[in-house]
Amino acid sequence: MALIVHKYGGTSMGSTERIALVAKRVAKWARAGHKMVVVPSAMSGETNRLLALAKELAPAKPGDAYNRELDMLASTGEQASSALLAIALQAEGLEAVSYAGWQVAIKTNSAHTKARIESIDDKKVRADLDAGRVVIVTGFQGVDDLGNITTLGRGGSDTSAVAVAAALKADECLIYTDVDGVYTTDPRVVPEARRLHTVSFEEMLEMASMGSKVLQIRSVEFAGKYKVKMRVLSSFTPWDIDINEEAVSGTLITFEEDEDMEQAVVSGIAFNRDEAKISVLGVPDTPGIAYKIVGAVADANIEIDMIIQNVSKEGKTDFSFTVHRNDYAKAVDLLNNKVIGALGAKEVVGDAKICKVSIVGIGMRSHVGIASKMFSCLAEEGINIQMISTSEIKTSVVIDEKYMELAVRALHKVFGLDQAAA
Ligand code: ADP
Ligand code: ASP
Ligand code: MG
Repeated sequence: MALIVHKYGGTSMGSTERIALVAKRVAKWARAGHKMVVVPSAMSGETNRLLALAKELAPAKPGDAYNRELDMLASTGEQASSALLAIALQAEGLEAVSYAGWQVAIKTNSAHTKARIESIDDKKVRADLDAGRVVIVTGFQGVDDLGNITTLGRGGSDTSAVAVAAALKADECLIYTDVDGVYTTDPRVVPEARRLHTVSFEEMLEMASMGSKVLQIRSVEFAGKYKVKMRVLSSFTPWDIDINEEAVSGTLITFEEDEDMEQAVVSGIAFNRDEAKISVLGVPDTPGIAYKIVGAVADANIEIDMIIQNVSKEGKTDFSFTVHRNDYAKAVDLLNNKVIGALGAKEVVGDAKICKVSIVGIGMRSHVGIASKMFSCLAEEGINIQMISTSEIKTSVVIDEKYMELAVRALHKVFGLDQAAA
């Protein structure tokens, strides 16, 4: 008997028919003797629908008052699907109870729309499990110290599930989704993408932070920090598939030292269309300019990703960085209004039609020439690289958005990711 957390994403919960199938699957696990906690997402499209309603009334505004209401609104999607799943499980003849984040309680900070989990009280859930109930913990939401409902950022139900698994010291956290595991790249973009049987936490962390949307990055951070055994698998297999077969399907997120790790130099390719590039041109090349530019942007709560400062010519330099596309206009305004005058810089130019493509693999630590192979592949395709950044296990480039799919496909091929692992 084990304590297992299941998480079902939006497509998996996408209709009452699908919810009924989820209930049958969970019931199968419960009847096999496992203590079951289930974390559902909102039905697919629901979070977008709710957020679009808010936009109809007033465009997105920075600030807590507006974001607090977005959280009140968006959290209802998960609350509805949790109750529906409890009803479906009861119809299956199981005792089931659902809890909103505040009822558990899942405590977060007050950063509305992107709150971080600070603690989870496991008492109520444990008592229900001991009494033989299936417990549904509503995904994506929590409560701050003042009792406000918060949400954890898009894709946040993954993080709810892993955090609940960590708090309960669950034996495993199974993330059920609409693909049957983590692939070498998004299978919707590259049909030849291959499913990985295992992927290391470090690689998954890089892939998630570089834009692979299969798992929210914070869920991977949690899994790494609390050593939660985590598996990504499909909810679209027949619900009555043999449980032992199901338990080893999909992709296991694992540790580097695991012997059965696949030994590829590059394990995956991630891409992200959500960024925009900003350059401050003609900046006097004096001490403190990086701080004055980056500091001003960070003070406005805008996250900066890649940064490049050019070699200076005649005492002037250009300074470029990327931000999330949603923050692009705000960052450009801020620089134009508050920064370039004070710095004596010439102008601010930007490009929102860029994307970032990254190759990720722990094998890159011990192999040379990987980045140059990436650059030569892009050159052969005639794709200009605008920015580069590297870490021990990844190389990322910024390129024109229109070449994204071409670049991902070409790199996937060059690094042999469409071939079965040796
Ligand atoms: P859910 O609603 O279940 O949380 P998501 O849409 O958030 O599902 O994540 C699953 C999707 O992630 C897949 O449908 C796939 O298109 C996309 N994806 C992106 N990169 C990858 C990858 N490397 N492996 C698998 N899926 C990926
Ligand atoms: N429903 C939320 C979203 O669409 C959270 C999630 O699905 O994980 O982002
Ligand atoms: Mg998701």
